[in-house]
Amino acid sequence: MRRVGILTSGGDAPGMNAAIRTAVRTALHFGLEPWAIYRGYHGLIHGELAAMGSRDVSGIIQRGGTILKSARSEEFMTPEGRAKAVDMLRRHEIDSLLVIGGDGSFRGALSLQQEGVNVMGIPATIDNDIACTDYSIGFDTAVNNVMDAVNKIRDTASSHDRVYLVEVMGRHSGYIALYSGLACGADVILIPEVPYDLDAVCEQISQAAELGKTFNIIVVAEGVHAIGDDDGSENPAMQIGRYIEEQAGFETRITILGHIQRGGAPTVRDRLLASRLAYHAVELIFQGKGGKMLGEVDQKVVAFDLEYALAQEKQLNLDYYRLSNILSTI
Ligand code: ADP
Repeated sequence: MRRVGILTSGGDAPGMNAAIRTAVRTALHFGLEPWAIYRGYHGLIHGELAAMGSRDVSGIIQRGGTILKSARSEEFMTPEGRAKAVDMLRRHEIDSLLVIGGDGSFRGALSLQQEGVNVMGIPATIDNDIACTDYSIGFDTAVNNVMDAVNKIRDTASSHDRVYLVEVMGRHSGYIALYSGLACGADVILIPEVPYDLDAVCEQISQAAELGKTFNIIVVAEGVHAIGDDDGSENPAMQIGRYIEEQAGFETRITILGHIQRGGAPTVRDRLLASRLAYHAVELIFQGKGGKMLGEVDQKVVAFDLEYALAQEKQLNLDYYRLSNILSTI
């Protein structure tokens, strides 16, 4: 029986377990032998491998995180580390590898492909910063988590005249901030992709009172550079909050949502996306294909060359940004 290795790597994302479940059972369906590789490339180098059966993935579809664990591996970034990884796969007679992860994990997968391992990638990252797919696994759950949190902040905000800043994940990408900001009716959304002027933000908040608003909610992506001399050591929401207090005289409250954004049961969308992509990825492996990532584009599953996909830049839909501005300034 041909063997297929399955690993999750990089930042964990809700829905990874749904993908693992589907990958294992689809492999069995096609007569392939699924092997778990624990702790991503780190575990691969260090031999953390085990054969899997259908019951090993029972009861996980509703769980966030990843039963295969995830890790980051510096060793894998070296040619010696990768040689160990390839050797480990050969020793276990695994010729194909399904990589469930983000951009860095895909770069790692591509380097394995170049060493002769058949790889297939499916995008799983809450940041949604991978090109060639409309959404990556975990994003929908994360953005719903943010929405739940902001709904609660809104309740308390409506009792006081203050400016509430909510910092969300996204070191290089404003996806979580933009989608949650629009969905929560934020007054201001600050994202790395769009330059902004803090004095204009203060001005907007001042004018908001004239529009009858008693409080303001600002959603800030963690990757925003708040002030000119920002050295990245302080959260942007803290810096921006202080600036607004000092320059515009408003009382501010800061919430940094952190890791609760990643947790919880995956949403329907994430479970379906994970199941669909994992099924097709294993089907392609069964057909002997490799060097691809699968994405969902306009509701269709599409396979892209991994090298091509990694060279593309994910575009943010700035219509959402413009729409949010219209709705919050009228
Ligand atoms: P994510 O997949 O969520 O973007 P990382 O960027 O941390 O997460 O990548 C996960 C792992 O993939 C890294 O720890 C490293 O082992 C491997 N990796 C990342 N970039 C490369 C690269 N350019 N070449 C080889 N391996 C890489």
